[in-house]
Amino acid sequence: MSNMIVGNWKMNLDIQQAKTLVSRLNEQIIKTDAKIVLCPNYIVLSTVSELLYDQGITKFSLGVQNINDHDDGPFTGEVSALMVKGLAKYAIIGHSERRVNYDEDNQTIAKKLATCVRHNITPILCVGENLHERQEGLAQRTIIDQLEQDLSEMVTSEVSQLVIAYEPIWAIGTGENASPSDVEKMMMELYRYFVNKYNELVASKITLLYGGSVDADNAKSYTNINKVGGLLVGGASLNYKVFSKICQL
Ligand code: PEP
Repeated sequence: MSNMIVGNWKMNLDIQQAKTLVSRLNEQIIKTDAKIVLCPNYIVLSTVSELLYDQGITKFSLGVQNINDHDDGPFTGEVSALMVKGLAKYAIIGHSERRVNYDEDNQTIAKKLATCVRHNITPILCVGENLHERQEGLAQRTIIDQLEQDLSEMVTSEVSQLVIAYEPIWAIGTGENASPSDVEKMMMELYRYFVNKYNELVASKITLLYGGSVDADNAKSYTNINKVGGLLVGGASLNYKVFSKICQL
């Protein structure tokens, strides 16, 4: 099965920088069977979408980094699935930077997932424990608890289309890596959870990603893990040389 490699550009790149990055990635990524998803900020999203369309570039799909849980209304500064659905096929939902910095709770995340599905956008749901939870031996319980609440508004057929990124918070943007054996244990835990809660077919259809300080040197050690279906890459997705390597491993 081909890997999914998601690049989360976070709050980086203006229009010109985004165009340059996409052009360079397009030149460098020659041979890959990875499903590559670029997640720019909202301001550059339509420019990147037009660039891909105008130049007939099909090797990248687009995603957004968040959406509001409503379709429209008095929500100043927010962007809805309705607005991005013609441009983005994917949406990162519940990223820890949103959970932590913007107090995004599991109830809101559940609504955002339902909104994505209603608009035919595939959610990339992020789950992960913080350092304290890991040190207390609560990593697995934390993640299962997040899933229980986050998926509460989805029916089984919708769950089977999900992409889930296991992103230990202490490994995001820190250069600290989760060990491949820890990631493998967590992936098995996730798989078992979906088998028990839904069934084996659902569990096998869900794409599981790992994210947290992935770079060109460690990427393979994660994609080699049983049940890992790809990577969510933050900082390294802004460097065309590194990201191209990750996409072609
Ligand atoms: C992320 O943004 O989801 C992420 C994993 O970031 P980084 O790769 O920089 O740790």
